[in-house]
Order: sequence, then C-alpha cells, then structure tokens
Amino acid sequence: PVAEPALRAHARIDLDALRSNVAALRAHAPGAAFMAVLKADGYGHGMVPCARAARQAGAEWLGVATPQEALALRAAGLGGRVLCWLWTPGGPWQECVEADIDVTVSARWALDAVVAAARAAGRTARVQLKIDAGLGRNGAQPADWPDLTRAARAAERAGAIRVTGVWSHFSCADEPDHPSIARELAVFRTALDQADDAGLAPEVRHLANSPGTLTLPEAHFDLVRPGVAMYGISPVPQIGGPESFGLRPVMTLAAALASVKRVPGNHGVSYGHTYVTPGETTLALVPLGYADGVPRHASGTGPVLVAGKWRTVAGRVAMDQFVVDLGGDVAAPGDEAVLFGPGDSGEPTAEDWARACGTIAYEIVTRVGPRVPRVYV
Ligand code: PLP
Repeated sequence: PVAEPALRAHARIDLDALRSNVAALRAHAPGAAFMAVLKADGYGHGMVPCARAARQAGAEWLGVATPQEALALRAAGLGGRVLCWLWTPGGPWQECVEADIDVTVSARWALDAVVAAARAAGRTARVQLKIDAGLGRNGAQPADWPDLTRAARAAERAGAIRVTGVWSHFSCADEPDHPSIARELAVFRTALDQADDAGLAPEVRHLANSPGTLTLPEAHFDLVRPGVAMYGISPVPQIGGPESFGLRPVMTLAAALASVKRVPGNHGVSYGHTYVTPGETTLALVPLGYADGVPRHASGTGPVLVAGKWRTVAGRVAMDQFVVDLGGDVAAPGDEAVLFGPGDSGEPTAEDWARACGTIAYEIVTRVGPRVPRVYV
C-alpha cells in the first residue's frame, strides 16, 4: 500500500502517552508482569514503534495474534519475550521456534506440529497452553484439558518443548458484573490445578485483558495483557473515560481540507444525496474516506472538529472523502479537520466516533488504513 506524505491526512501517534499508559496500567496491576498487545498493527497505531515504546516503558512481554506478526517484531530487531496465539495448520512453527517466540497451543494437532518443529530445529520450543474458560473461541475445551496437559508434559520430558505459560481470555470482562466472569475465573483456576497435577510448572499464568487489568485484580495472576487501554482508550466507557484510569489517548486522526466552497440551498451532497443543503452555505471537503477507515456508518453522524466547532459528516462517506457543512463559518483549503484525538483541544474522541457509528473504539482506531501515514511524536 502507498502511504502518502502527511499533507493530506495523518494519524499522529503520541508515544509518550503510550509509555505513560504502560506505567499507569502497571500501577493497576502491581506485581504482575506486563504484556503489551500489539496485534493488528498495534491496533492501527503502528506495531513496531509501539512495541519499542512499550519496551522502553518496561513491558517484559509483547503479544500478537499471528505468527507472522511475531516474526515481523523479530525482523524489526525486537528481542525479549514475544507470544503469539492464532495458528492454523501449516503455520511457520519452525521459524517461530528458531526465533525463540512463545507459541500458543490449544489442541493436540498444534502440540504435534510444534513438537515436530522443535525436533526439526534441534531446539526446545517455548509453548503456552490455552484453555477455553468460556469465550468459545480458541483454547482447549475443559474436557480435553487434562489430556492436553499430560501430552504437553510428556513432550517436555522428551526435551521437545518447555511449557512457559498457561492462559485464557475473558468473554465479558468489559461488563464488570457479568456472571461469566466468576465462572471463567473458576474454570481457569481448575485448569491451573490440573496443569499442576500433570507436572507442569509454567512461568506465567495469565487471563486479564484491559478491562480485567483495570477492574478485576483477582484476574491478574502473574501477568496482565492489555491492548486497547495501552492506546489510551477506556475498555469500559460505561464506567469512565480514559482519564478516569489515568490513561491518555495515543492517536489523533486529522486531515487538511481539500476544498471549501459556497453552494446554494437545496444542493445535494455526496452519493445518493442523503443530505441536501438547507440554505446557502459553505461546504468543506475532508479527504478521508472508508478506504482510510472512516466507517460508512458515519454518514450523517460522524463528528469532526473544523473551524473551532464540531460538525457532522454531511451525506455519505465515500471511499476517499466526505463533506461537512460549515454553515456561515469560514475556513480555507489546508485548514485542519480533526476527526478524533485525546479530546483535550475540543476535538471528538475515538469513543465519540464509536458511539456515532454503533461500534467500539477498538474498531475506529484499528481500521485507520495503510494509506494514512502515521506520524510519531
Ligand atoms: N489477549 C488476547 C488473547 C486478545 O485477543 C486481546 C485482544 O482482543 C487482548 C489480550 C487485549 O484485549 P484488550 O484490547 O481488550 O485489552
């Protein structure tokens, strides 16, 4: 993909804010190690620069979904502990073993694959076993867990692997009173006991994502695994915004106005003419569209700071651009339109966009497209 110069639009990434968020999250989980979750290009913020900043702030672990992401961290020179967890048959097991990446195993086929890779590499693979405590995605079913732990222990005795971790992932930690939380904690504790019974002695046992880190101290175990909160977004907006947890939003998405012009009343705007000017007015063109991650669902609802006021996307978001109606206000081509940022200069936040589009702030930042340059400050 072609990333353009920062003239049209850019995402400003405040790495100081990211480092301060790591410190704030660590203070919420004293005694636990910290895994910075960097999958999906660091939730859209840029995986490698964010990984370096998280390391500077003391993150002992980096966590990503795919093995390709883990290998990309190594290729960028990031050492230390790295865990990845989303595998398919035929994945790069041997490359990961050779790169000293901790790999997640949820099933016998994956254990067999990593044992074969370790033998081929002539090394001991670092393996973390995952239990499905109730989310219903990856992870061994509790009924299969005793067998998996025994098989892993046998592979450990044979020198092929070392089980470095046992972990799981919550289904509803962002709803602090949800009954699944206690159930999943209980399943996880039983799984830890069974791992013990099988003779495993993992270095790290972990369960807590951002909401777990901020609101469930009983889920911290040896390590916490926050993603969205490290980027300064509250994982529980119904409880409080980022500032209430000592977090600062890291990304600001801004663009330069590409056109400003007067139009008469009754002028249709953008595809389908879902917006028609109520009278003579000034239209400004923001050169960001759904190809850049601005949801088409923001048509008629998304908030943008232009010329000192919040405007609303007028008509449909197109692939590369959308329009705002400035009414009688004055602006010029090149003036900045801020879609979202920390909110402390009057701009909307990613959470405001999420509300306007019926989604979550995770999706708003993660979908900012590869055409938008990230500018690190
Ligand atoms: N751990 C795992 C396995 C994940 O998939 C994710 C992301 O969804 C996280 C941790 C971080 O979650 P959050 O961004 O809610 O902190």
